[in-house]
Amino acid sequence: MYDLNICHLYPDLLNTYGDRGNILALQKRAQWHSIDTLVTNVTIGDSFDSSLYDIIFLGGGQDYEQEIIQSDVLNQKGTEIKAAIEGMKVFLCICGGYQLMGKYYKTWDGKEIEFLGALDLWTVGGKERMIGNIVFESDIIKAGDNPVRIVGFENHSGRTYLGQGIKPLGRVISGNGNNGEDGFEGAVYKNVYCSYSHGSLLPKNPLLTDHLLSLALKQKYPDFEALGVLDDTFEDAARSSVMQRILKTP
Ligand code: GLN
Repeated sequence: MYDLNICHLYPDLLNTYGDRGNILALQKRAQWHSIDTLVTNVTIGDSFDSSLYDIIFLGGGQDYEQEIIQSDVLNQKGTEIKAAIEGMKVFLCICGGYQLMGKYYKTWDGKEIEFLGALDLWTVGGKERMIGNIVFESDIIKAGDNPVRIVGFENHSGRTYLGQGIKPLGRVISGNGNNGEDGFEGAVYKNVYCSYSHGSLLPKNPLLTDHLLSLALKQKYPDFEALGVLDDTFEDAARSSVMQRILKTP
């Protein structure tokens, strides 16, 4: 019997657009795969020992919340987070949580907020927000040999640019993604997965959920081979209906 410990970092401050749904999806799918999970909330002022967790989640938050978190993330938890990332810990970071992993965020009104610099990426705010549904294709998450189409909802001012050694999570088919310019959406570095997609991301994209669970199980249990296949009829129908609306396909 396998089990996974999930840490929700800053759940009281980083949880826009129901991003906690990603935690629920991880737990529910783990349960369907007969894997036990335990979720621990860790926020400002709490101690953070990454060795206690197998998956670490950061949701989205507006500029205001990001500024509140900045000192704690840089000065209290930063060294531990960076060591966990280099040690191949699994992270999922959405929107504001994604931006926090980068070097800095220059807001649209000229404020420069220093961030963690755990990943070589940076964010520059634009006056016009990028809002709407998004579809992107990821060849990191495959169904057989085919890249999977992922759906989500984005709402951000920040435009994020990827530096050395950071792969995009996918290529935008419809929507803006990282910056509305280079066609990239999200970022992947070691076992850190970042995306602008709320929605929440994981409930409608079960192969991505299973991908993260598998990565965490591989890290924890040397004998782990693969997850079984679940019936994704409902999840696929939910994803297809969003895609049909966005891509205007029949
Ligand atoms: N503050 C960031 C932006 O507007 C993140 C927003 C979010 O997490 N939804 O770019």
